[in-house]
Amino acid sequence: MKIIRSPAAMTAWSEGLRRQGVTIGFVPTMGALHDGHRSLIREARLQCDALVVSIFVNPTQFGPQEDLAKYPRPISHDRAICRQEGVDVCFEPTAEAMYPAGFQTTVTVPAIARRWEGEARPHHFSGVATVVTKLFGMVRPHRALFGQKDFQQSVLVQQLVKDLNLGVAIMVRPTVREQDGLAMSSRNIYLSADERHRAVTLYQSLRAGAAVIRTGERNAKTIRLAMAQVVTQQPTISIDYLTVSDPFTLEPVSLVTSKVVLLGAIRLGSVRLIDNLLVAVPHRSS
Ligand code: AMP
Repeated sequence: MKIIRSPAAMTAWSEGLRRQGVTIGFVPTMGALHDGHRSLIREARLQCDALVVSIFVNPTQFGPQEDLAKYPRPISHDRAICRQEGVDVCFEPTAEAMYPAGFQTTVTVPAIARRWEGEARPHHFSGVATVVTKLFGMVRPHRALFGQKDFQQSVLVQQLVKDLNLGVAIMVRPTVREQDGLAMSSRNIYLSADERHRAVTLYQSLRAGAAVIRTGERNAKTIRLAMAQVVTQQPTISIDYLTVSDPFTLEPVSLVTSKVVLLGAIRLGSVRLIDNLLVAVPHRSS
């Protein structure tokens, strides 16, 4: 496996392969790789001839009060996983190479970024949209894989690629979970043993929402209440948001008439967790 740090060297490698008709797959990550990342890497390995994984903790998607400095960076462990999974290039650009002096262009996707994570983290999605655009420019992939775990991000990336004609096929893969249902995340290591035990409440709350939809409930307010009830049973957990939304616009719905996404964010001590579930609604033949 090659380790490439320079953006110019990354582009040269990809361009060489593209000229030979090789299909390049790309999995952008911030490292601290777990089985969620692994599932994206495996799928990309199956679908593409050559595979690039980027490891870059992007400073511009962190807010001033967030965990940029303490974000885990176990680079040897990450490279070992990439090697095990047959990755061809581990692309590890530096912050200076990504944002050299004089850098000024940013990308925004205003409507999709407005709510939910966008409200809690005002500059987050502009940071994501900008770094994804830059990484696509450097890696020149044919296909890139993202996780449903970050649902709003996955919708944003699809809109970005469409609006800016970036020419990269985007695939979104299901969320990989721990045995109890907690969505895997590089941030789960911040949880104390007790918090880890209670962290599954978010998934249980989303499941409760999905269950009431399946029993025929269509009123979003009632569904939100069912989700909130699960969390409020745990007095030390606070809800950032629990919503029933349109999976394309991310706007909240008042009545469930077709597929919806249940999006949630909670706080457990200093740790903030997000998760989501897509729920299809069976057609009623009357
Ligand atoms: P991150 O390193 O957190 O920026 O995530 C890199 C990619 O992995 C993103 O597309 C995430 O959505 C995806 N990802 C993170 N956690 C999971 C998970 N539990 N299951 C599937 N994909 C995930």
